[in-house]
Amino acid sequence: MKKWTKEEELNLIDLLKNGNTYKQIGLLLDRSYKSIKEKLNKLGYRQDDFSEVCFYENKKCLTCEKEFKSIKSENRTYCSKCCSATDTNSKRVKIINKKNSKSKT
Ligand SMILES: [Zn+2]
Repeated sequence: MKKWTKEEELNLIDLLKNGNTYKQIGLLLDRSYKSIKEKLNKLGYRQDDFSEVCFYENKKCLTCEKEFKSIKSENRTYCSKCCSATDTNSKRVKIINKKNSKSKT
């Protein structure tokens, strides 16, 4: 059996998330159906997890409070990278302020 590289594993998960079946993924990665299935089981993924209904959940963005669809396994709390960066930056500013005030006293 061919060894899986980290890159292949990520590729595999991406393909599954994009709605490909084990068979399709097998063809794309040049591996057998069984090998794909076993690898995904090992990684904690099942094909059922990736149907539209159970795969996505509605979440509210912590920054702009807009509702968005989040992939459950990704556990996102922001609607976009921009919102995530905005919130992370504001947190960073707070930490810096804290440090500054500490050093002053
Ligand atoms: Zn947002």
